[in-house]
Amino acid sequence: MTDSTLQYDVVIIGGGVVGTAILWELAKYDLSLALVEKRPDVCDAISKANSGIAHTGFDAHPGTLESALVTRSNPRWEEICQTLQVPFRRCGAIMVALDEADLRNCEAVLEEARQNGVHSVRRMRADELLALEPNINPQVAGGLHIPGESITSSHLLPIAYAESAVLNGAHVYLEEPVRALQAHDTAIEVVTSRRTLRASWVVNAAGLYADEIARMVGDDSFTITPRKGEFYILDKTEGHLAQRVILPVPTPITKGILVSPTIDGNLLLGPTADDIQDKADNSTTQDGLRRVAAGVQKLVPMLEPYRKTITQYAGLRSVCSTGRFEIRPSERAPRLIHAAGIRSTGLSASPELARYVRELLQEAGLALRPRPNYRPERPAIPLIRDATPEQAAALCRQDPRYGHLICRCEHVSEAEIVQAIHAPVPARTVDAIKRRLRAGAGRCQGGFCGPRVMEILARELGVPLSKVRKDGVGSEIVLDRNKAAWR
Ligand SMILES: Cc1cc2nc3c(=O)[nH]c(=O)nc-3n(C[C@H](O)[C@H](O)[C@H](O)COP(=O)(O)OP(=O)(O)OC[C@H]3O[C@@H](n4cnc5c(N)ncnc54)[C@H](O)[C@@H]3O)c2cc1C
Repeated sequence: MTDSTLQYDVVIIGGGVVGTAILWELAKYDLSLALVEKRPDVCDAISKANSGIAHTGFDAHPGTLESALVTRSNPRWEEICQTLQVPFRRCGAIMVALDEADLRNCEAVLEEARQNGVHSVRRMRADELLALEPNINPQVAGGLHIPGESITSSHLLPIAYAESAVLNGAHVYLEEPVRALQAHDTAIEVVTSRRTLRASWVVNAAGLYADEIARMVGDDSFTITPRKGEFYILDKTEGHLAQRVILPVPTPITKGILVSPTIDGNLLLGPTADDIQDKADNSTTQDGLRRVAAGVQKLVPMLEPYRKTITQYAGLRSVCSTGRFEIRPSERAPRLIHAAGIRSTGLSASPELARYVRELLQEAGLALRPRPNYRPERPAIPLIRDATPEQAAALCRQDPRYGHLICRCEHVSEAEIVQAIHAPVPARTVDAIKRRLRAGAGRCQGGFCGPRVMEILARELGVPLSKVRKDGVGSEIVLDRNKAAWR
């Protein structure tokens, strides 16, 4: 250990929804905490590319840890999202059966829901389903109503978890890949690209790379492989076509291709479920998107994915070789706690998963005392698009940059962008601004606001425009000057 080694009670590896939720939970206690993330931002890997649904757990495998964590998290969402100022809507879901076989499978799902303790799920006749969602396939044979299914912002939730923890004293190190772990009897050293952190306990929340972190202590008890899911996002003009999440009847491999309103007013179509090899392959494919289009048109025939899309993306689920959540101490290094293999419900399970990890740490000997002066609320950046005319005028008086609209599609002002750049977890890239404020997430996908956002980033970060990145290393947008006046 060198003099420059930093000491922490707990270091968390990975700033996805799992790692940030654990940081948020632990920050309620009087502990020194750090989170280490290799990407330039939190929520910059699997967690930025999911469906944004806070599931009830109705269709989880009964009796599993996953089922317990998802179902226990579900009633907490209103309070959590209000405290962290994250948008949330309990919109409900319907499951659409199109034939007799689907109807029989719905009975099995209903039984599973009962076993999972989600008693609000009930059968619905075709006419009842059509009354709720008039745009679904008129051939519907019947199905289920799941009123507790909810939507939130998959981006803002992890950011809010992390910011809340930082406001309560936690440290977040960005763009610092963990390169090695050295396990000792009383501590673990975490060697990153920039420094060494010494921790009493380390939590492995590295998503797709959790197996590689485990192998750093000689633990090869599981491997993680990626399962790709591709999506379309449709323009807000299509948002009215579904008020609830519209689900097909699931198969053993996947919950299926669904239609979902997003918390921002778009429609989300997808995802596929394809096992692949490359953990960095986030590409969308013609074949995948074709299957999404075919799948959603069975549910809502009038959807026009090709004509109404504003963007497509793919996310990679982390499929664990053991087929379950691996949340436990490593057998090779008991001070390393795995939070791995969180495949399809990481967002939904996150509050109780974090509590479960806290309890494991407590059982392992971590002393917990409530943090003095703990501040549960995380103030969000006031948004001009949500403001009444009176509120907008007040915001402009407070900071005239609220009057300078940068993103016209999503109504994002300069003042909001500046606040995001200087937030507790700072936005340092164009994509980080997009995740926090939606500048560039609208119909023009940054065509108009992109250069303005870059100029603000360059100014606020004190770097030349050629150093402003879209996201990770190598994603600089401007290469060089081509006019003398350009700075
Ligand atoms: C298509 C799709 C749809 C989904 N839909 C839903 C849904 O609707 N609802 C739901 O609840 N769940 C959903 N999920 C699942 C959910 O997204 C995941 O369970 C969750 O995001 C996993 O979070 P994580 O923190 O484990 O992983 P990640 O978000 O990937 O976080 C892990 C982090 O660790 C970092 N890391 C890795 N290696 C290192 C290293 N050496 N050093 C430092 N940092 C490192 C990574 O950069 C990454 O940021 C979906 C997933 C997919 C792919």
